[in-house]
Amino acid sequence: HPAKILVSACLLGQPVRYDGSAKTLAHTHLERWQKEGRIIALCPERAAGLPTPRPAAEIADRENGLAVLEGKGRVMDNTGADVTAAFVAGAQAALALAQANQCQFALLIDGSPSCGSLSVYDGSFTGHKHAGEGVTAALLRQHGVEVFAHTEIDALHTRLQASTLS
Ligand code: SF4
Repeated sequence: HPAKILVSACLLGQPVRYDGSAKTLAHTHLERWQKEGRIIALCPERAAGLPTPRPAAEIADRENGLAVLEGKGRVMDNTGADVTAAFVAGAQAALALAQANQCQFALLIDGSPSCGSLSVYDGSFTGHKHAGEGVTAALLRQHGVEVFAHTEIDALHTRLQASTLS
């Protein structure tokens, strides 16, 4: 059976981002994977029960998702509320869905405090990013899911071809 890919729902056109928008990725690979039935869509933050729209949130103090999972970091929204528990719950929902569908791969929007896999915002709400990953990306990786950023879709395509041959 074809390898399954967990994909950020907002990449697939679902208007689930904090500001009520989507971030649709129109790409031939993604369209083909959808036709092949490989795509499992999820928004971790919506899965955790957060509303859309919702306040913007960032991992505080230049930390990353792994620190949040280990209880050494927090996710704060721009009203000053601590939303760590919801972000951890969203990551757990994403992992459960990935495992239920045997997703070996994930394609997630970079920069998000949940879905970021290369970079995240630094917690200052001033638009500055640093290298790091969000809470969902960190938990998926801990459990062996190979996470690719949306900017790495060609690398995922190559990886899928290699996994099919092996
Ligand atoms: Fe998109 Fe992930 Fe943010 Fe949900 S949590 S809106 S899927 S980037």
